[in-house]
Amino acid sequence: MLPLFLLLAASLSSAPIASVLAQDGGLSGPTSSGEAAGYSCDSSKCQLPDCHCASTSPPGGLSPEDTPQFIVFTADDAVQTYTIDAVNQFLKHRQNPNGCQPKMTYFTSLNYTDFGLVTDWFVAGNEIADHTMTHVGDPPAEEINGNLIALNALSGIPMSAIQGFRAPFLDFSVDTLKRLADASFVYDSSAAASVPVTEDDTDAFWPYTLDYGMANNCLSVSGLCKGEPKLPGFWEIPMYAFFDKRGVAGPHLMDPWLDAANGDSKVDDEATLEYMKSTFTDHYKNNRQPIGLYTHPIHVAPSYPGVKTPQKTIDMINAFLDWAQEQQNVWIVSNEQLLAWVRDPKPVSELDSVGALKCSTPAVDQNICNGMPEKEEGLQSKCTFDEYPFSTCYGCPDQLPTVANPNPNQTVPDGESARFRLPANCTTAFWDPIEGECICNSDTCSFQDTSKPVGPNGANLTGGGLGGSFTSSADGAASSTPFNGPGNGAQAMMPAGLLPSVLLALGAGLVGMLGVLNRL
Ligand SMILES: [Zn+2]
Repeated sequence: MLPLFLLLAASLSSAPIASVLAQDGGLSGPTSSGEAAGYSCDSSKCQLPDCHCASTSPPGGLSPEDTPQFIVFTADDAVQTYTIDAVNQFLKHRQNPNGCQPKMTYFTSLNYTDFGLVTDWFVAGNEIADHTMTHVGDPPAEEINGNLIALNALSGIPMSAIQGFRAPFLDFSVDTLKRLADASFVYDSSAAASVPVTEDDTDAFWPYTLDYGMANNCLSVSGLCKGEPKLPGFWEIPMYAFFDKRGVAGPHLMDPWLDAANGDSKVDDEATLEYMKSTFTDHYKNNRQPIGLYTHPIHVAPSYPGVKTPQKTIDMINAFLDWAQEQQNVWIVSNEQLLAWVRDPKPVSELDSVGALKCSTPAVDQNICNGMPEKEEGLQSKCTFDEYPFSTCYGCPDQLPTVANPNPNQTVPDGESARFRLPANCTTAFWDPIEGECICNSDTCSFQDTSKPVGPNGANLTGGGLGGSFTSSADGAASSTPFNGPGNGAQAMMPAGLLPSVLLALGAGLVGMLGVLNRL
């Protein structure tokens, strides 16, 4: 992300910020072609769940009508109150067809990140992913792996839960992908699908493994494609661009609402909404490749100091989601949820059986500082540093985490005891960092499944539009209450799919330990 002072300065006029953003997720034309990809994959040998050829058709041989239309929602950069509030104003009041609040993926970098908020956001069921420690492009391994270590130490995120990576500025190389695979990441999501699904030469592939190399970004990243790099079992989840009236010549990838559309000189929310809808419809009516809202939430944050809340743009984004959710079989998901479905694809009539799409509440009685706001009242430490302050349940470090030392020593205030960091055989909602005790084992872990049945008899096929109205300028954001807002009793939710991984970790502690060592 931009340094705060630069962000504030840039926000005074929209022009500089747009040009800066072009570097952080911009796209000006096709970044691949069939010829440049030189891709071939033997689908008789490359089979799910651990191998998948790059293809524009739905996985598992499903017909498009039997395939859910996924909208992936992601956020990048620091996790702050402002950014969580920004995401909440789009998701908190919504539900997917099964009645669960949508979950999203947060690609987290650490400068200005509040580690306590990361814990809360994760325990609420969202995916925490890696965006390097200090937000550098083409990052060295220390930037990638240090992020894991710091988020594990200070936010209590299990190493095994951090599965994904996005390169800052979408600046990645063949070496970046190799470093990720070496560190046992499951997927990267830095590549772009840059040609519309309506074109013969579209590069809007469903997520695929790199057993046969990459098929995206062949024209923009040297050494990619024509079979390279071969990273068996490692996934690429392309970022799917929107296209304005210029088609392939008018792509919009991250934060499309900050771009001017159709070659115009000024941003126009109506024009943005129009092309977001038309691109969605192209996906929905063709092969239902996912579509994505890839956000830098700070730019649509409510009440950011010194910046006028961009209410019209916020309302426009909600209007898009309302419109999309009124259509059948549309799901707003995290990358982790998307990938779980791709690996074991089920037709829309059988989505009840997809654990990753369910929601459940961890049942925890005592107050233990574990990521549920009502269970951490007065138990978080406030860590004050000149650069930025943050909260954590895991004890303040004696210095800010750095690439050289991502897990500094803990400082223990007089009269208090050191906090216990999350061990490999427990998970965040059930870990008591004060007593150093896992209150969940395979017999006592309990979750309440709050998902509702989905179809196939026509019931609950849509999430329904519940957001603010774009046409009335009424306070659309007021209907959402920030998860971490004062006095908010939001339920802590996590995808039921996490439960098996918890049990697996408990049943195979040694394997978990080895996994962690591998991740380091
Ligand atoms: Zn970034």
